[in-house]
Amino acid sequence: MKITVLGSAAAEGIPAVFCNCENCKRAAAKGGKDIRTRAQVLVNDDLMIDWPADTYMHKLQNNLDLSKIETLLVTHSHSDHFRSLDLNVRGGVFAHNMSCQKMNVYSNEGVKRSFDIAETIEACGQVIKQNIAFHIAEPLKLFSAGRYEICAFRAQHMASEQALYYFIRERDTGKALLQAFDTGKIYPETYDFMVKNNLKADVVLLDCTMLAHEIADNSTHMNMKACIRAADDLQQKNLLSENARVFVTHFSHNGNMLHEEIEAAMAPYNIGVAYDSMVVEV
Ligand SMILES: [Zn+2]
Ligand SMILES: [Zn+2]
Ligand SMILES: [Zn+2]
Repeated sequence: MKITVLGSAAAEGIPAVFCNCENCKRAAAKGGKDIRTRAQVLVNDDLMIDWPADTYMHKLQNNLDLSKIETLLVTHSHSDHFRSLDLNVRGGVFAHNMSCQKMNVYSNEGVKRSFDIAETIEACGQVIKQNIAFHIAEPLKLFSAGRYEICAFRAQHMASEQALYYFIRERDTGKALLQAFDTGKIYPETYDFMVKNNLKADVVLLDCTMLAHEIADNSTHMNMKACIRAADDLQQKNLLSENARVFVTHFSHNGNMLHEEIEAAMAPYNIGVAYDSMVVEV
């Protein structure tokens, strides 16, 4: 299973779109792993998690064939995770010789609403529309999509809709990814379901938006301490496979930390730090 973290920033990106803070200036000067775009993760070459406005740049940077994506999992409708209008160019006169005609999108009611609203702003052609099948993913229920078994979990993230994150297991190899952003603390029901269904992760991505900042129990994001706790909980509950790799991602510029500073803080806990275009093979 090949996992590519295409974007590792929170909503504003780093350097942030309109920002001139010291951290954004430091990141811009440093370049490399300190340049972070909006969250998106590719599994092998046929399953994508989230579709932000940066998707097109991710295609250019990573030389991707986005027409290979058969399954799109969307976490929630926040603009850094779903830019539905981009799907209007998936087919018809806009895309020839596509690798895969049909794409299945799994998400919640909020994302479906955003998808439907986009249609009223800029209607896409009938052929394009009929090749995008939208499904509501029910949390805590395993479903099958392409060569994967998937489960959506409820995220502590927003009031207006139930944001989700996903467990994705490749059927042939049994290798699995737990993608836990955007979310505050992991609900006990997630661990309970994973224990009950013997869902072990080989790679874990954890929301570390708040970095070293203190957070409240009802926070809609995690910080470094919460990520360390989540990694420990997964370990204690025997939900990590042998040699599993845990990473933090989805960083805010307000965290005021460069990549190497986050790495130094997480190293004692054996937690890696994601960066744009990072590839993990398990
Ligand atoms: Zn986000
Ligand atoms: Zn900034
Ligand atoms: Zn969000």
